[in-house]
Amino acid sequence: MLPLDPQADIGRRAWVTCPNCSDHQGCATCEERRRCTRHWRYLLSNTGSMLHLQCPTCTYVWDHETGFGASGRRNRASDGR
Ligand SMILES: [Zn+2]
Ligand SMILES: [Zn+2]
Repeated sequence: MLPLDPQADIGRRAWVTCPNCSDHQGCATCEERRRCTRHWRYLLSNTGSMLHLQCPTCTYVWDHETGFGASGRRNRASDGR
């Protein structure tokens, strides 16, 4: 197991399912995509719509592309060929 990242801060959380341990499975709250009090991830940092996350359950670290984010929308309409 990796150590928790020094940037891990309980004040910065994201509700994304973990691709490593899938600990949300069987949880009714998560299946409704609500903010579960048990299954959340540390939001280490983000770059535009890309979130850098760490799972507190298994300490797995990964990047999650949300497709939308703080730095504005991606203009997909212009390359619809
Ligand atoms: Zn996990
Ligand atoms: Zn849950």
